Amino acid sequence: MADRMVSDVLTKPDAALEVTLRPAVFDDFTGQAKVRERLEIAVQAAKQRGEAIDHILLSGPPGLGKTTLANIIAKAMGSSLKATSGPTIEKAGDLAGLLTNLDEGDVLFIDEIHRLQKTIEEYLYPAMEDFKLDIIIDQGPNARSVRLNLPRFTLIGATTRSGLLSAPLLTRFGIRERLDYYQAEQIQKIVVRAARLLNIEIDPQGAMEIARRSRGTPRISNNLLRRVRDYAQVKGDGHIDKPLADRALAILEIDEHGLDEMDKRILETIIVKFGGGPVGVNSIAVAVGEEADTLEEVYEPYLIMEGYLNRTPQGRVATELSYARLGLKPNGSQARLL
Ligand code: ADP
Repeated sequence: MADRMVSDVLTKPDAALEVTLRPAVFDDFTGQAKVRERLEIAVQAAKQRGEAIDHILLSGPPGLGKTTLANIIAKAMGSSLKATSGPTIEKAGDLAGLLTNLDEGDVLFIDEIHRLQKTIEEYLYPAMEDFKLDIIIDQGPNARSVRLNLPRFTLIGATTRSGLLSAPLLTRFGIRERLDYYQAEQIQKIVVRAARLLNIEIDPQGAMEIARRSRGTPRISNNLLRRVRDYAQVKGDGHIDKPLADRALAILEIDEHGLDEMDKRILETIIVKFGGGPVGVNSIAVAVGEEADTLEEVYEPYLIMEGYLNRTPQGRVATELSYARLGLKPNGSQARLL
């Protein structure tokens, strides 16, 4: 429980901070180079044709910049963005209200689009494809369907779990991009930029120390930077260098390698329960009490990128690095605590 609270503090967005630090234009958006380039081209092309940009699906783990990109795209198109999220659209009427309030070229941003109810999803299909909305008015024998024409809008959907999206919804997005965890060097740049915006003095090594422990996630690095700043102000002279960042992050009990509790639990399960693997993702999911596709879409990409886990046709295998990080020793098929 305590672990969960620590990770909540680190992953929960801070509204005021997010607004200051959120890059507003493509040039300030660090990393995700290929995704960024493809989106910039799509924006330019649509602008040249004087059309609304195609519907876009952005997927990837939380805190990597999906909402940020949606805002950048809308701004670059010179249009306004109206934001909502899958779970808040409870009735077809809610969706109709949102859609009929859009102006030509507007962006409707639906966060957590995988959590949209099936019945509501079905209203979206003709809206996305033909810019028409069929709504039923009245009830019982008077019920009748009315077709409304909608302005040409762009739907930008964001999801951490693209695997949960139905095929008909998926195929209605002309552009689909997946964001991946950032390399430490990219997060370092993001930390330096955030420090500049917040008037924090930090040297490159201090920024790297925060970056290494941010699990490849800008939202986490933004939050850690703020906590380290508090420490620097109270225990130092306000300047952040590597030794100070080290001490601050140790007090916050942030893992030296950026792993969170669930990462560790996954690796420990593979090693201790399943002899290091290979083991199927479903078995791991049951053992750690998480859904298989969350493991696949949210946790594994980071563990694989950092070399903790290999994905083989037989299943997941823990690497030597995992044993080393957890202080466990390979011992035949069984691992034991050192
Ligand atoms: P998501 O929608 O994927 O959960 P957000 O777009 O809300 O993530 O990003 C979280 C925060 O991280 C943003 O407020 C922004 O300050 C920062 N951020 C995300 N991506 C970048 C980036 N590429 N460069 C700089 N800052 C970023």
